[in-house]
Amino acid sequence: MDEIKKWQYICKAEKIVKVLNQKHFKALYVETPEEAKIKLLDMIEEGASVAMGGSTTLNEMGIVDILRNGNYKFFDRYQKLPFYPDIVEIHRKSLTADYLITGTNAITKNGELVNTDCTGNRVAAMIFGPKNVIIVAGINKIVDSIDDAFKRIKDIAPMNSKRIKHETPCTETGYCMDCDCKKRICNFTTIIHNGIKFEGRIKIIIVADKLGY
Ligand code: SF4
Repeated sequence: MDEIKKWQYICKAEKIVKVLNQKHFKALYVETPEEAKIKLLDMIEEGASVAMGGSTTLNEMGIVDILRNGNYKFFDRYQKLPFYPDIVEIHRKSLTADYLITGTNAITKNGELVNTDCTGNRVAAMIFGPKNVIIVAGINKIVDSIDDAFKRIKDIAPMNSKRIKHETPCTETGYCMDCDCKKRICNFTTIIHNGIKFEGRIKIIIVADKLGY
């Protein structure tokens, strides 16, 4: 990567980590996805139960295969099973996991985490349930405000819908049509304002690079 670009990404990562730690999250930054993977796996002890939120970033890092092949109790939501009742049941059990690993749709400059879900399993577990939450996010997730976070989520939702092959109007147009169809993926939106209630529960690894959507 261009050295000057990298320098600016690191500056942004350092700044947001400082803000997130002030907000009582446990944040750190790394320079590459590979380093993020090492940090992430260092945080999880062998034998722990682990769940995953849907995340392009984590998929790109190959985390699913690592969890499948490692010494973990993995609540594997990516198995080829019917959504009802099998995958929904995995989502339910995931709420009791030792660790939830996930991405985040947006991080504001004030350190708020903003997310929209289709099923709600990810946002529910980020808020309460799993003993630990580990979030991996590239600096492209940083936005100025909560309004900008909502805008970002609207901008990326058509790509997410296309990725998971949902038949929604936005997969035809490329932009949000505020649909009312059964396959709509934008159903539950949450803002996590800080990590103070369960200090240290939410750990955030910022990668000084652009990852996922
Ligand atoms: S509300 Fe519907 S049309 Fe808009 S992004 Fe979400 S799924 Fe697509």
